[in-house]
Amino acid sequence: MIKAIRGTRDLLPPDTALWNFVEKTVREVFSAYNFHEIRTPLFESTELFARGVGEETDIVAKEMYTWEDRGRAESDKGQSLTLRPENTAGVVRAYIEHNLQARGLNKLYYIGPQFRRERPQKGRYRQFYQIGAEVIGPATSGSESPVRDAELLEMLATLLDRLGIKDYCLELNSIGCAADRARYNEALRLALEPVKDKMCGDCQRRAVTNPLRVFDCKVPEDQPTIETLPRIGQFLDEPCRQHFAQVQEILRAVGVEFQLNDRLVRGLDYYTRTAFEFTHGALGAQNAILGGGRYDGLSESLGGPAAPGIGFAIGEDRLVMSLGKSPEEVLRKPDAYIAPLGAGMNNEAARLARELRQHDIVVELGDASFRLKKSFEVATKTGANYILIVGENEVKANTFSLKNLATGEQKSIPRDQLPGAIQS
Ligand code: AMP
Repeated sequence: MIKAIRGTRDLLPPDTALWNFVEKTVREVFSAYNFHEIRTPLFESTELFARGVGEETDIVAKEMYTWEDRGRAESDKGQSLTLRPENTAGVVRAYIEHNLQARGLNKLYYIGPQFRRERPQKGRYRQFYQIGAEVIGPATSGSESPVRDAELLEMLATLLDRLGIKDYCLELNSIGCAADRARYNEALRLALEPVKDKMCGDCQRRAVTNPLRVFDCKVPEDQPTIETLPRIGQFLDEPCRQHFAQVQEILRAVGVEFQLNDRLVRGLDYYTRTAFEFTHGALGAQNAILGGGRYDGLSESLGGPAAPGIGFAIGEDRLVMSLGKSPEEVLRKPDAYIAPLGAGMNNEAARLARELRQHDIVVELGDASFRLKKSFEVATKTGANYILIVGENEVKANTFSLKNLATGEQKSIPRDQLPGAIQS
């Protein structure tokens, strides 16, 4: 038997109803904030991710699905291609390629699969789905403003509320600008120097290559040492301090709760200022539903114009897990099951089904080869509200018997009154 590749999975009905519910709500909420959808390719040049995500990240160093193109054309041959491990790099590439800066402030969102060769476990897949948004534009469009950060965070809180997710927590930090971080990195390096030999292998490496990443360490024995390290908050310059204060002020004004977490950092140079995560207790070890932050330097690091931006990526797999809903709660069951009875009745049943569906009624169509008993069994199994019998007499009279499957109540209804009777 050929099976799905380890770390990938099929999403089957009725579970897909939960995914559809999430995506429909996302589209409704995001459009109320004037965000518009962007779709970028599932694969891009490897170089885009090397530069846009960062060579020294785990994603680029270990987790990408990369291959060399075997194309015949000289221009394709030997090109290194990669399945996208995230979508921000693709969006910023598109921003540069299509000169979206001419549009001013761009508010873009995407929904789609991402690919990382991670060790599969609960809440961690090799093909997983992200819902993300990016606000990006020239500084003159207000893309740097704390208004944008706060709006994005408030939109996320609204989305989680609308999805009925409770007990989530917004964790917030500012990682300052490149100059703040250069000073902070130096201080971290100094502080780590005398203690790093007692830390885990990863931290010893990080202390040299990228000290900020020490805060990613999950090894319990290292935590007391990490607690003693200086925090980025002490190194913010005045504009960064004020920017962060204003983000918090707006969040308080609109009533979005948050917790400051000065261990929340992002290790790449183009990340700036606001960094955040929404976590949820029900998810266990992989408790982050989403993460995001400002990346005022990303466009330039991809060879584009200066384009401050802020964005996030929600793990849709984890969002669906934290919904706490069953598919039945969001699933639309058939309103009516049409049971053709007797020879030649398939045509009549199909005609009636077509009419009813044009009234936005969900119809499951039976088959005249089924006996009446079997039609009732199948109708009950689909969860339909009504069964509608289509036999020769009914067609002649143009009046059909409609039976409520829950109450057993049965009525004769003229054809033109059927939509009303089924919907009432
Ligand atoms: P990142 O792009 O690493 O900042 O991740 C953003 C969000 O995507 C995380 O908070 C997770 O919810 C989700 N995510 C990342 N990697 C995976 C994965 N391998 N499987 C499922 N969800 C993931």
